Amino acid sequence: SERTLVLIKPDGVARGLVGEVVARIERRGLKLVALELKNVADDLAAKHYAEHEGKPFYQSLLDFITSGPLVAAVVEGPRAVGAFRQIAGGTDPVDKAAPGSIRGDFALEVQENIVHGSDSAESAAREIELWFPGLS
Ligand code: ATP
Repeated sequence: SERTLVLIKPDGVARGLVGEVVARIERRGLKLVALELKNVADDLAAKHYAEHEGKPFYQSLLDFITSGPLVAAVVEGPRAVGAFRQIAGGTDPVDKAAPGSIRGDFALEVQENIVHGSDSAESAAREIELWFPGLS
């Protein structure tokens, strides 16, 4: 079994899609092991997106992710990292996310794309420690 960090980004919370996203995670057979509604401080946002520092969309991404409450969750199950990324769909909701995925069903913009999921087991370990320090 594996764990992944999921964020329901501020656009997903504002649009009332928390239940929809959680339902899709649970229906797939993945389990919630932590779940929190959170207003994100600038330093947490910067640490989470450190790999994007210097990119043209970096400041806009930080402004977006701190623009309102988001839901952070730790999700567990067999191949949870890949399974959640499949449920989420590709980063670009129109060009990459398939219909039937969260982004393919609910998003139109690359930045406001509803959810985040860790991209590897190593990223998941780093992100889970960042968002839920000491979670056992
Ligand atoms: P996430 O890490 O949020 O799951 P991802 O792995 O699909 O997304 P990344 O390439 O890591 O995509 O980008 C992280 C986030 O930055 C994206 O989910 C999106 O919100 C934003 N983003 C990525 N590329 C762009 C872009 N070209 N313009 C604006 N925002 C972008």
